[in-house]
Amino acid sequence: METIKLLGGSEVQVDLSKPSWCGSCANEIYWAKTKSGKNTPISKTEQGFYESHFANCPFAKKYRKKR
Ligand SMILES: [Zn+2]
Repeated sequence: METIKLLGGSEVQVDLSKPSWCGSCANEIYWAKTKSGKNTPISKTEQGFYESHFANCPFAKKYRKKR
């Protein structure tokens, strides 16, 4: 696990050796843990930054409804 900073400025803990895939758009994501202990999917942008996958998933609206 390592701590990285997302584009929005929040820090999360993530194991970058364990990539996963978004069930909606099939992009590569990582499951990260926020400071408040929530699991959140993040993904790497083309520029090499990490951000919440909710921010760039084309299916984010659907995704959010599920949970
Ligand atoms: Zn997605």
